[in-house]
Amino acid sequence: MDAERGTVRSAPSGVRRPAAPTAGGRRTDAPHTATPRAGVPLTETQRAGVPLTETQRADAPHTDPPHPGARRPPARLPRSRRPLADLPSAETTSPWILMYHSVAVEKEDPYRLTVSPERFAEQIAWLHRRGKRGVSVRELMRARAAGRADRLVGLSFDDGYADFARHAVPILQAYGFTATAYVVADLLGRANDWDAEGPRKTLLTVQEVTDLAAAGWEIGSHGLGHQALPGLPADVLTAQTRDSRRLLEEVVGGPVTGFCYPYGAVDLAATLAVRDAGYDYACAIAHSPLTGRYALPRCYVGDRDGAWRLRAKRGRHRLRDTVTELRRHRLAARAGRLRRVP
Ligand SMILES: [Zn+2]
Repeated sequence: MDAERGTVRSAPSGVRRPAAPTAGGRRTDAPHTATPRAGVPLTETQRAGVPLTETQRADAPHTDPPHPGARRPPARLPRSRRPLADLPSAETTSPWILMYHSVAVEKEDPYRLTVSPERFAEQIAWLHRRGKRGVSVRELMRARAAGRADRLVGLSFDDGYADFARHAVPILQAYGFTATAYVVADLLGRANDWDAEGPRKTLLTVQEVTDLAAAGWEIGSHGLGHQALPGLPADVLTAQTRDSRRLLEEVVGGPVTGFCYPYGAVDLAATLAVRDAGYDYACAIAHSPLTGRYALPRCYVGDRDGAWRLRAKRGRHRLRDTVTELRRHRLAARAGRLRRVP
């Protein structure tokens, strides 16, 4: 359980779900609809029907293991198909990226997706007081590559709710901050029907997305129809990533370089599809063996998060970075031992 990441969204009816979700290559055989215990919030990953524990995610191998007990060298994959986690990484820590969904006033919010405008203003003011500047994930990644990201925090808004333009943008503008809105390419101007229990919220229209992009706000892809990617056939994965990018580039009149996995659900095939579709980066939620440019972990921010909780979450993010890196080294060492077996 992780109360910091909101509550469960049941599997949306009519939305195709992976038959056997994987995380890091391991079949979970878990029920596709996450079942919350009373009063226990679940993670976005659990919402996607991939209810792995942190330990399971971190320990899962990247490919299906051979027969139990058998040892064999890893298959030689073409360079373009090798697991991203095996690629050399110059960065041992991930940037701090906050994950929002909706900024509005809601009486009922079972998935804890909504932050009130007042609370949101407090959170942004807290960042500002600490000398931080909130920026789009695109800007954050560019600044990081140039070694200029010390005081930057990524601000991301999933699903593309219309209230982003109405409530979040004016507050961000007051501080000179920017942000990224990840929109669902096939559902612009419609509603979040994938959230069975509501509340029903309207999504940004085509015109609003066009206007936001023209004003400098980054627009990223959240897929075609808010469908979880793990387990999808290759052609559907390609459509979800490449076609959504093409559609949104027509709307914004320029390149769309960021992707955000619906429900935060990610596996190796999804990261490769996103990379091959031409994106520059992708946002996940949890730290995992896939953590990196195409599976950036993010920090859920909710309406209960005041200054001390945000400070604690910042520390927890760094701790998870460290643990993830240690596990990555352990996996690399294990792979090295396997390669030495004649
Ligand atoms: Zn979403």
